[in-house]
Amino acid sequence: MSLSRRTFLRSTGVVAAAVATSGLPATAAAQGASALFTLGVASGDPLPDGVVLWTRLAPDPLAEDGGMRPRPMPVEWEIAEDETFGRIVQRGTAEATPELAHSVHVDARGLRPASWYWYRFRSGSEISPVGRTRTAPEAGANPERLRFAFASCSQYEHGYFTAYRRLAEEDLDLAVHLGDYIYEYAAQEYVAPEGNVRDHVGPEMVTLANYRQRHAQYKTDPDLQAAHAAVPWIVTWDDHETENNYADEIPEDGQPREAFRDRRAAAYQAYWEHMPLRGEPPRGIDLPLYRRLTFGRLAEFNVLDTRQYRTDQPCGDESPGRCPERSDPAATITGAEQERWLLGGIRSARWNVLAQQIFLAQIDLVEGPDRGFYVDGWDGYLASRDRLLDFIAQRQPVDPVNLVVLTGDWHANWLADLKANFDDPESATLGTELVGTSITSGGDGTDSDPEGETVLAENPHIRFYNNQRGYVRCELTPDRWQADYRVLEYVRREGSPVTTRASFVIENGTAGAQQA
Ligand code: FE
Ligand code: CA
Repeated sequence: MSLSRRTFLRSTGVVAAAVATSGLPATAAAQGASALFTLGVASGDPLPDGVVLWTRLAPDPLAEDGGMRPRPMPVEWEIAEDETFGRIVQRGTAEATPELAHSVHVDARGLRPASWYWYRFRSGSEISPVGRTRTAPEAGANPERLRFAFASCSQYEHGYFTAYRRLAEEDLDLAVHLGDYIYEYAAQEYVAPEGNVRDHVGPEMVTLANYRQRHAQYKTDPDLQAAHAAVPWIVTWDDHETENNYADEIPEDGQPREAFRDRRAAAYQAYWEHMPLRGEPPRGIDLPLYRRLTFGRLAEFNVLDTRQYRTDQPCGDESPGRCPERSDPAATITGAEQERWLLGGIRSARWNVLAQQIFLAQIDLVEGPDRGFYVDGWDGYLASRDRLLDFIAQRQPVDPVNLVVLTGDWHANWLADLKANFDDPESATLGTELVGTSITSGGDGTDSDPEGETVLAENPHIRFYNNQRGYVRCELTPDRWQADYRVLEYVRREGSPVTTRASFVIENGTAGAQQA
């Protein structure tokens, strides 16, 4: 299957032809049967005129060096208006270097707004699988609709990534990932209630080699590759891309701070290497990740990072318990700079979205008059939450912000009204929080359980609970936002169908969702 440069650049149907020759089954073709592009392709952070294209050369994906020799390799890329690459609009050559694990990030520009494109890479005689992507509408445009799904928490050992496959099969413009894309644990360190179905490779991640190996293992999954190849992604991380419940430079437990700084730097670099992110690779221990992505006048995503700048969890991160430190005015979950950025620019679209990690609404976990909160979430950082919701409240209801918060982390589906005063059900509703379940974390799950029923009973502003796996599909128009909670019957076996467990609608100008 040697293909000349000329063939690559000019031909139509190259991928199909190559597959027919090699006799590989069609599914393997769709997943990329290349011996070099074993991790698939991805695109992300769409702009009106551009999108980031990603791949990584890894002939031996689980090896420390990916099976690559320690020298730079040129990688050609091309992006076309059609699936068969008859109308190529941009092409170029990027350099894959060993310093960045032979990853490739191309910021392809000069594209038309609100348009579908197809892209692929070539190195030597190897051609990557084809990815499909889509640019954002122009800044002043009034799109009729935007369709996306958001997902989080894909523990590789807890189940098969069928939910990613089902997401790829949806009719979407975009996917949003809210973190826990990988988990740091050694095999069988984090076991789902009904047991794990496959094993992590390598030890608990500490070194750059560990993090690269784990990212590569996840990226070899064909269902995850299909989801990346279907639509552009907007990604942010939570804790497990680095370490459970870390806070800025403070690790979960024991590790000395200096060692944790090295670990964080390794985690952040490997994350950047494996994600379709624009900009520069991290320097030292920092990687600026919070950013805005705008879809005409219809929607703006404020993508938050609630890990890198937060103060330490209060009360020893013990949840739930009595914890007056929750009200510490110096506590911050975003850091001061990100908060200024957020509040200074939160509002420019019909739908103003926070794409973030952890539960924003108050969630009392304790039955009866006693109360207890999960202090790794915004419930542990009340000053941060109050400033955000006070800012929204100042504009409601005469000039609605249409705030919709997207949340991951919890491994369950929830819907919450964001209240001016969570202790007063009669107080104003300021926005809606959609909490999406995990892709796999927690295993098959059940429709409901006693813990979820307790939370629903204790918190009148929390109005929906489901504990199956899946993702949330959203369709936005200027008049309404519909959210469909898509759930799988099982993840411990492959191939589950997906169904809509519940749908909610938010009307423009009316804070609060109604079940559809
Ligand atoms: Fe998680
Ligand atoms: Ca209670």
